[in-house]
Amino acid sequence: MIINELIDSQRLFFFYGRTKETFKRVANLKKLKDILKSNEKLLYEAIYKDFGKSKYETYETELSLIYHEINVAVKKLKRWSKPKKVRTNIPNMPGKSFIIPEPLGIVLVIGAWNYPYQLSLIPLISAVAAGNTVILKPSELSKNTSEVMAELINSNFESEFLYVYEGGVKETSELLEQKFDKIFFTGSIPVGKIVYEAAAKHLTPVTLELGGKSPVFVLKDCDLKMTAKRIVWGKFLNAGQTCVAPDYILVDQEIKVNLLNEMKKLLEKLFPKKTDISENYVRIINEKNFIRLTNLIDKDKIFFGGETDIEKLFIYPTIINNVSFSDKIMDDEIFGPILPIISFTELNDVIKEVKSRPKPLALYVFGKRGEQVDNILSEISFGGGAVNDTVLHLSNGNLPFGGVGTSGTGNYHEHAGFKAFSHYKSILSKPTVFEPFLKYPPYKKYKLFLLKKMLE
Ligand code: NAD
Repeated sequence: MIINELIDSQRLFFFYGRTKETFKRVANLKKLKDILKSNEKLLYEAIYKDFGKSKYETYETELSLIYHEINVAVKKLKRWSKPKKVRTNIPNMPGKSFIIPEPLGIVLVIGAWNYPYQLSLIPLISAVAAGNTVILKPSELSKNTSEVMAELINSNFESEFLYVYEGGVKETSELLEQKFDKIFFTGSIPVGKIVYEAAAKHLTPVTLELGGKSPVFVLKDCDLKMTAKRIVWGKFLNAGQTCVAPDYILVDQEIKVNLLNEMKKLLEKLFPKKTDISENYVRIINEKNFIRLTNLIDKDKIFFGGETDIEKLFIYPTIINNVSFSDKIMDDEIFGPILPIISFTELNDVIKEVKSRPKPLALYVFGKRGEQVDNILSEISFGGGAVNDTVLHLSNGNLPFGGVGTSGTGNYHEHAGFKAFSHYKSILSKPTVFEPFLKYPPYKKYKLFLLKKMLE
């Protein structure tokens, strides 16, 4: 497919209002759900080929979220699309004020490989719900899932409306030369900068869903067993290849040993040390990432794990103890199953350290709700997070999901997703029966007096 022709055809499709009617948007979303449902087998097979992700985890962390997003949009998009009345200020009385949501036009969605279905399809669903056309560019690293999405979407929808454009850096760069009405990007910070720069040339609005190092604070008064459980789940899900995975632990020195032992006990139970493909543990996406990750393991500081197998792209859950902020593993987002532990005696010192670093995408605190927890939440700026849990804030669609600073700009999911792909047009509508004489010259003293009375 030639990019220019594809974009021109989508522009015409949008221009003639073919995405506008809400009943058509609903029908298209239902159609997408039917297609995904009736091809689940293909979806499971493709992701398993990409990085050994099991059916269970694929349903839990990908398909269920996509179906939920479609269900909510189908139910609510008519309401979201309605003009919303707002109060009119006194000088404009007796007028009416309202805000009309309208679609932006042609959207480019660029996906990441680590949750290849949901990171591509949830923005697409929001864009369709808001009345846009979409070109989706999934990650080339998860080749099989990219192919299956292209096959299912391109053979079931008109390319003027939805099209999956496969490819890597070259193809994405070509797409980025074009003018879109919105670009939604999920991926790394360096590529986020490339996307932002390309968008700026056309003044195209962007949502950037990026990454960063997400800390977990573990306070003395936490429920230790539950803390260990929820950290282990959030960290080793998808073998740590999750944008909001706990990146490193900041634990009160007094409970560090107990926390480590709880996590060890749990890991031994959950993940037997077998390198053969397991239903319960995914692989590293490719050799480049495998090498990057294994280079981060400081053998002298391994508390648990450390086993790796390059043939099978397997890295066993690994805990690195006695880490300090100056260790190499603390430079960049880990994005793999390696968990560094930093202990502290003064909470304020580590708060200051986290505050002085780039703003995290997520932050987690384990402890009893109180001054210390509130202090962490209010002192540190981060995208979103949880108290006494990890990762799951992103599963609540009422919480807009996104980063801040280098971890991203903008947010999405459910209504926030609809808003990300809409323009809110503000209208003041006035009757013609009355016109305040104060607006017009000559500007007399008494008029200024009256104006001040009215406006102050
Ligand atoms: P990536 O930035 O390498 O790739 C993302 C997309 O950009 C892919 O589609 C890829 O083809 C394209 N791309 C890569 N290099 C490019 C270039 N030079 N020019 C134009 N396009 C290019 O990211 P990734 O490896 O797929 O994902 C990992 C990163 O994404 C991590 O940092 C992770 O934290 C982040 N992430 C963020 C979220 C979120 O929701 N905030 C979700 C998942 C992943």
